[in-house]
Amino acid sequence: MIAIYPGSFDPITYGHLDIISRCASKFDKVIVAVLNNKNKNVVFSIEDRVAMIKELTDKYPNIEVDSFNGLLIDYAKVKNADIIIRGLRAVSDYEYEMQMSLYNKKLYPEIETMFLVSKSTYSYLSSSIVKEIASYGGDISSFVPPTVEKRIKSKIVNK
Ligand code: ADP
Repeated sequence: MIAIYPGSFDPITYGHLDIISRCASKFDKVIVAVLNNKNKNVVFSIEDRVAMIKELTDKYPNIEVDSFNGLLIDYAKVKNADIIIRGLRAVSDYEYEMQMSLYNKKLYPEIETMFLVSKSTYSYLSSSIVKEIASYGGDISSFVPPTVEKRIKSKIVNK
């Protein structure tokens, strides 16, 4: 089975990495698909986001990291994916995720969306909160790996 784990990953956090490692042991192949959406306000370029994920998932032979534009289901068809993986944190994720999954199912009935409940330690962790804490000089070492922490800091200093 081929699974796609899509998202902005701006940047990748320990919450995302937890989902990735759990999927890696369950599927034949997992494609971490970074959304290259020009309308989204992102801090890291698509190249940087992909490079960080590649570096951190190097140890999993069945993980592929890629980027995509446009509709996720069009990309999923090209990649022959069976399943879309999404992480669920608090209840607040639920409404948007349900809408997306119903819409994807309508456009592409063969695909299933599977939700993995976030590890409790990471249930309040998001890329935006990490960026916000970092912008005020807070400690983000328990939220992102050292390589990501370094890149966030250099972005903020260079801002
Ligand atoms: P998007 O812009 O698509 O929401 P994100 O990079 O914010 O992209 O998230 C990608 C996926 O990872 C989403 O399914 C999101 O719910 C999930 N995710 C984000 N942070 C966490 C976390 N701390 N624990 C579990 N899943 C998470």
